[in-house]
Amino acid sequence: MWFSLDPSNKVVEVSPDWDDAARDRGGAAMLRQGVVGRSLWDFVNGSETRSYLNALFFWSRQTGRTLVLPYRCDAPGLRRDCQMMISAADAGGLEVRHELLGVAEVPGHHLLPPGSAARQCSQCLNWDSPDGWYDRTLSVPARDLFVHYVICPSCRQAANRAVGG
Ligand SMILES: [Zn+2]
Repeated sequence: MWFSLDPSNKVVEVSPDWDDAARDRGGAAMLRQGVVGRSLWDFVNGSETRSYLNALFFWSRQTGRTLVLPYRCDAPGLRRDCQMMISAADAGGLEVRHELLGVAEVPGHHLLPPGSAARQCSQCLNWDSPDGWYDRTLSVPARDLFVHYVICPSCRQAANRAVGG
């Protein structure tokens, strides 16, 4: 599935398979009708994730090159490994293609106590802890868990490597 952006990062179009893929992910709010014409930033959680993506978009537009980065897009009970391909398009636009690489069932344990605040990487979905970043296979956060989405050090490094930084 893919979406295309205009120079101001407004969603111009999405791929024909968009609605089916959105339903698979359990995100009814993300259907085509609700996405096209809106700013991409309306759908990105956390200012750190927005500035991370913005930097990658800027790089792709400036260099005209394509960037491929892995990320996770879990659904309830499922670990989903994905990759994102960011390509420059005509007239300052971008095409962002999402590809599902693999799916595995996960128990979705709630390993964090309800009511706690936690930092999670929006790209690899690992959780911050005092002794490092870990995958807690928490596919869906507990209802009253406050998640602060950030970019973890290893995803930041991977992006820096991808842009040759
Ligand atoms: Zn990460």
